[in-house]
Amino acid sequence: MLRKHIVRPALPVLLLLAVLSGCGKEGTPPPKGPQPGALPSYQVRGPDAVTGSPTLDAARSRGHLVVGAKEDQPYLGEKNPATGAYSGFDIEIARMLAADLGFAPGQVEFRTIASANRETALQNGQVDYYVGTYTINDNRKKLVGFAGPYFVAGQALLVRKNETKINGPQDLAGRKVCSAAGSTPYQRIQKDYPKAKLIGYDTYSACVDNLISGQVDAVTTDNAILQGYAAKVPDEMKVVGQPFSTEPYGIGVPKSDTALRLALDDALQRHEENGDWKKAYDATLGLSGVPAPQPPAIDRYQ
Ligand code: GLU
Repeated sequence: MLRKHIVRPALPVLLLLAVLSGCGKEGTPPPKGPQPGALPSYQVRGPDAVTGSPTLDAARSRGHLVVGAKEDQPYLGEKNPATGAYSGFDIEIARMLAADLGFAPGQVEFRTIASANRETALQNGQVDYYVGTYTINDNRKKLVGFAGPYFVAGQALLVRKNETKINGPQDLAGRKVCSAAGSTPYQRIQKDYPKAKLIGYDTYSACVDNLISGQVDAVTTDNAILQGYAAKVPDEMKVVGQPFSTEPYGIGVPKSDTALRLALDDALQRHEENGDWKKAYDATLGLSGVPAPQPPAIDRYQ
């Protein structure tokens, strides 16, 4: 009866997951996590490998890159609260690309940016590029550029383990469903399933806290994200139904910096071809239980 241990004010999910893993039933395997030992290391290219990018010129004079990411998405982008270290598939993508741009691992600083703030962070120069389950679409392309895609997800639903009535988005009428403000899954529910009681938070981990404590009936976002939460506490939550959208993940860049965008496309291609992409996937997102797919074709748009 794990739920009894959870107090009402929503605990930050990372703390919650730690609490749950600490008081798991006897015989429950410990939650899996990215295994740093299995991660590839990436060859760092010379500092002038890419020219003509104002973003990279500024990063070089600063001495380090600033990469936007998520910090509460298991196997994708997670920040260790004790050490401050980031890990996950998105983080590995960011690191392999940084190496091609001439930045060593110690020269890559991650900064957490929520879904709703990504475009402004790129427009204001708060981050040099962004890697965090960021769907490429035409609306966003009016504001930022995208390298990639490097992965394709699809919108799904996460519910409590004992839920039987919610099996797809058609079952959300009158039910409380939570998503991150500013995300494509939030917008899709608003537009296509207006009878759902939609609740927006800054982060999916806040939604997951509210799902476990019974304040909402479902969490919706990309299957890749939801599978990670479910894999961490499989006794509490499950992903249901078939994906009902296509979410190609891109690397967000400042819109006018075409040199950076194309350099990232080239770098991504190299790491897909040399096996780094698959090694990184297997050591991170693969741990949530889905084998590595083929990476999608890169779209070097004009
Ligand atoms: N991929 C979706 C989006 O970019 C949902 C995940 C997220 O919010 O990061 O909006």
